[in-house]
Amino acid sequence: MARMSVEIEQPYVYQHRELVEPDWTRFPGWRDVTAEQWEDVQWQRVNCVKNLRQLRALMGDLLTEEFYEDLEKDQQLRATMSMLVPPQMMNTMVSEVTWADGRMPAAGEEFTRAFYADPVRRYMLPVFSDRRTDWASHPYATRDSLHEHDMWVAEGLTHRYPTKVLAEMLPTCPQYCGHCTRMDLVGNSTPQVTKLKLAGKPVDRHTAILDYLRANPGVRDVVVSGGDVANMPWKNLEAWLERLLEIESIRDVRLATKALMGMPQHWLAPDTVEGVARISKKARERGVGLAIHTHVNAAQSVTPLVARASRTMLDAGLRDVRNQGVLMRGVNDTTKQLLDLCFALADDAMITPYYFYMCDMIPFSEHWRVSLAHAQHLQHSMLGYLPGFSTPRIVCDVPFVGKRWVHQVDTYDTERGISYWSKNYRTSIEGEDVDVTSAEYVYYDPIDTLPASGQEWWRQHTVETAEADEAAAVEQAAASRRASVDQLA
Ligand code: SF4
Repeated sequence: MARMSVEIEQPYVYQHRELVEPDWTRFPGWRDVTAEQWEDVQWQRVNCVKNLRQLRALMGDLLTEEFYEDLEKDQQLRATMSMLVPPQMMNTMVSEVTWADGRMPAAGEEFTRAFYADPVRRYMLPVFSDRRTDWASHPYATRDSLHEHDMWVAEGLTHRYPTKVLAEMLPTCPQYCGHCTRMDLVGNSTPQVTKLKLAGKPVDRHTAILDYLRANPGVRDVVVSGGDVANMPWKNLEAWLERLLEIESIRDVRLATKALMGMPQHWLAPDTVEGVARISKKARERGVGLAIHTHVNAAQSVTPLVARASRTMLDAGLRDVRNQGVLMRGVNDTTKQLLDLCFALADDAMITPYYFYMCDMIPFSEHWRVSLAHAQHLQHSMLGYLPGFSTPRIVCDVPFVGKRWVHQVDTYDTERGISYWSKNYRTSIEGEDVDVTSAEYVYYDPIDTLPASGQEWWRQHTVETAEADEAAAVEQAAASRRASVDQLA
């Protein structure tokens, strides 16, 4: 007997959402930009927003003076990344996809309010008033909070896990995210952060990475990152990948590029597509899984161009396109925001939702970070809606440990926001004499999320005042950098 379908009320209601390329001509500065220009990668690169003057020229009278002052103050006093927003990303902020009542907010105060609230704006164009004034930084926040430099086995090559490595090929990206974990190295210096410079010539560093991999056949998996590989001339990247594929022990290669979303025009350029097809063919012949790992944090970022770029890469022969987002307050910290994003990725762009990382403990990131308890809640609430293979794991990147699924925590002091973790392998900086498997590693919740008693404990035990906290974070950041520079000397 046929059963009638029964509508059961669910906490989250799935709806297939038609992808939309927002109309860029709503911005006064792009009123005359044609579709041909928009799809041209050179036009996208030349027209990135890099400073307040360019943002003003683009926005005309849409934003009030208050916003520019707020942004400028942040650039001077808080920003750990310089400004770089490609048109493609700019165009997803306050668009017809996000307008609450189907109408563009009026220029001036209404548009400015919508811009302040926009999830993509919140992490690509952070302003001073976004940040916390009580605990702007966690007392244990540092540059290079994951200690990737400490684990460099060649300049830019982090060997943290037993069978896989991270190769930082270059220190630049087509877009700079305010929360970047690699704020110590990636991008231009800001008034607050003088960036670490890679000392070796690129060709020497890249050769040294291959030498290390040849000498260490236990490594089978290479994350080719930066920065963003979209900023490496394709012929140089392809030539290096060819040499990488000649190493018998390599079985998985992942190309890290947020630009698949931030500047899909790069991955749609004919030369790049042909190059990806050539290298994918070689990888398949060798039995190597070659994939792109991208970084999308909000459903509104998935547009038809992004979907086209992803599917073009799959057609060119990549094994998969996977997403590694970052979990951030005010950006994607609700079940609905995360599931909307996952379905947008999976439905039409064929991007596998793979991970969401908890935002790392870099300076001035407290307003973005969420507690471990909240991350666990989100993970629980997402299960069951997506196919298992497309259900992302929410992970905490625990310093000196690596990624741990949020429910893997050993013990958790929710009053003080201190979680304790263990691991089951040695990193490259731990000798056989060190018993790492019984050691305890810690991660900290943002202090403002703790109960009053926990916040008081931190005030008593760490710092006297919020100002002292800030000064301590700045000093810790400076000390962290000095240590990195000494290591390279
Ligand atoms: S794309 Fe990645 S490496 Fe580049 S700024 Fe953003 S988070 Fe950092």
